[in-house]
Amino acid sequence: MEELNTKCLIIGSGPAGYTAAIYSARANMNPILFEGIQPGGQLTITSVVENFPGYPEGKPGAEIMEDMKNQALRFGADIRGGEIISLDLSKRPFLCKSDDNLTIIADTVIIATGATAKWLGLPSEAIFNGYGVSTCATCDGFFYKNKTVAVIGGGDTAAEDALYLSKLCNKVYLVHRRDQLRASKIMQDRVLNAPNIEMVWNHVPIEILGTVQGFSKNVTGIQLKHTQNAQEKTLTVDGVFVAIGHSPNIDLVKGQLAIDNENYIITEPGTSKTNIAGVFAAGDVQDRNYKQAITAAASGCRAAIDAERFLQH
Ligand code: NDP
Repeated sequence: MEELNTKCLIIGSGPAGYTAAIYSARANMNPILFEGIQPGGQLTITSVVENFPGYPEGKPGAEIMEDMKNQALRFGADIRGGEIISLDLSKRPFLCKSDDNLTIIADTVIIATGATAKWLGLPSEAIFNGYGVSTCATCDGFFYKNKTVAVIGGGDTAAEDALYLSKLCNKVYLVHRRDQLRASKIMQDRVLNAPNIEMVWNHVPIEILGTVQGFSKNVTGIQLKHTQNAQEKTLTVDGVFVAIGHSPNIDLVKGQLAIDNENYIITEPGTSKTNIAGVFAAGDVQDRNYKQAITAAASGCRAAIDAERFLQH
């Protein structure tokens, strides 16, 4: 089994991971970064990113992530496709294993594993997952060209998904559990002014409706319940996009690092330091407040600087 030594192992390849790689590579820490199962992270499945500074006209998320990766490579970061599958944080240096059978011995570790889309938790949602139910509008929207779909949620992701789908589909229902969107004002204005997006306020899904014949499954509608008067109604739709937020990806560190009641890694205020010396956290895995690409990038920068300073002492 091959063994690698590094001053800094970075786990995750969103804006936090790549920015940590840029900074730690420039600090001669010879970082090794494992990209994980979704190289580039969540931004690779968003459409155009309009609020990342430096791109006045906006740019597709996937291209921004490619730019960040290339910038890290330029400074010598060792970027590897694949996953870290085990991590022993009980003593330093930290012993890690990858899915391609490498052992990595790391003086410091930066956890930048991001977050994964949440599901509603309905049994029928699981039945039709991949057959009419999705959490990725940019991946699956194409299949609903000229059809009718529902997006569930009221945040920026739901607004962005609804707008993206409104350009492909005849009609988009945006189903939200309250009577006011959580999304940023600019996204709210766009959604509310889109001619083929219809808001369905104060409703939650209680069932995904569809047909199952052998391996053939089709969504035909969604059953909703009013959040105040409990009245039920059905929308006829061909697809359902769930956009109700994200959960931090903490499986690797669960039981080792301190986490809060919503599973975010706890960091010392104003720093990226976790409860274990030499282990730092950056990006959405530790951010319950902002969760923006730019704040993730900034926290990756902080983690790299914190790791560098830690090794100097
Ligand atoms: P959010 O947590 O912001 O929003 C989740 C939405 O889903 C809320 O409206 C919430 O309702 C609703 N919701 C949560 N659970 C359920 C449930 N079980 N049933 C029905 N509805 C539910 O998540 P997002 O993914 O939208 O955004 C996460 C972060 O990423 C935010 O900070 C956002 O600003 C950022 N982001 C920024 C983008 C951009 O700037 N272009 C694009 C996408 C995301 P309620 O409002 O009642 O709590």
